[in-house]
Amino acid sequence: NATIGILGGGQLGRMLSVAASRLGFKSHIYEPGANPPAGHVAETVTTAPYEDEAALRAFAESVDVVTYEFENVPTSALDLIESLVPIRPNRKALAVSQDRLVEKNFLRDLGLSVAPFAAVDDDLDLAEALLEIGAPAILKTRRFGYDGKGQARIMELSEADQALADMAGAPAVLEGFVDFSHEVSVIAARGQAGDISCFDPGENVHKSGILHTTTVPARLTPAQRTDAVLLAAKILNALDYVGVMGVELFVTSAGLVVNEIAPRVHNSGHWTQNGCVIDQFEQHIRAVAGWPLGDGKRHSNVEMLNLIGDDVDRIPEFAKDGSVAIHLYGKADVKPGRKMGHVNKITGAA
Ligand code: ATP
Ligand code: MG
Ligand code: MG
Repeated sequence: NATIGILGGGQLGRMLSVAASRLGFKSHIYEPGANPPAGHVAETVTTAPYEDEAALRAFAESVDVVTYEFENVPTSALDLIESLVPIRPNRKALAVSQDRLVEKNFLRDLGLSVAPFAAVDDDLDLAEALLEIGAPAILKTRRFGYDGKGQARIMELSEADQALADMAGAPAVLEGFVDFSHEVSVIAARGQAGDISCFDPGENVHKSGILHTTTVPARLTPAQRTDAVLLAAKILNALDYVGVMGVELFVTSAGLVVNEIAPRVHNSGHWTQNGCVIDQFEQHIRAVAGWPLGDGKRHSNVEMLNLIGDDVDRIPEFAKDGSVAIHLYGKADVKPGRKMGHVNKITGAA
């Protein structure tokens, strides 16, 4: 009865741990922060920093494979773990998605459409990049950004200095503003034999930089749906990827533009828990454990709503609605902007 090691103990780690348990695996969470949400469900939890070599070694020696819910694990920790046990998805997937500049170059070199971009390390770079790309544009830190953090919009050139100051000296990328009609994402999985299964694309709405809702089916033509799935498969193959990946896309009149990729289960894939027989978490565990992938076919139309901060007060209301599945992360303190849970409302049969 194998044990799956999971780096990161947030809600994604928690839901991976539940899926692992359902398939008869044990899970061991490694998380630097105290009282991680995944710690309530995993068999074993190590609470230690990524710099603690003894703790990392003991963790790696106690598991059969390591996966992650968090892509910013330091390289030194990954080196140590990989010397003892396989990491899936592999290191290349992490290296590409940890750094927006590397990611943009990788996607462009695959022949995919991305926003026009340029590296920005200082004011000279920014002036040059703005000359080339123009405004409106978005300046984003190359590393550690999530939920719209580490980004500054430059709607007019006069806002450039402030945007650069917002980066606080961190290396950044300037991206041209994509004129999209809406946003969608593909949750795609690749197994160890190279088999690929994609979930139906979901349509995403963000609020204050944080995912608000994901709706399936997304508004896409049959051709766009095919493009979305084919480009996701191309990315997975190029990385010799094993596991689930989230691919965020902008829908434009000129076709699909790739925004970013996440080498892990993804918030915009939470609808699969109630819209499919096999959800993204089980699919990821299957891939990582070397099982065949399940069928990702969708049986229901779903609207996923994130419960951010006080939204969690609406639980009694949702609990009365028989078409709503409630997923709470067991977080004790409610904070503004904190993801407390989500609900999946079934809106019809697929
Ligand atoms: P996540 O939590 O998804 O990892 P993030 O902090 O990495 O978010 P992005 O996905 O890069 O941020 O951007 C957040 C949102 O900002 C996008 O979903 C989109 O709505 C908008 N956005 C980002 N880049 C662009 C762009 N180049 N053009 C237009 N809108 C953009
Ligand atoms: Mg991101
Ligand atoms: Mg994003």
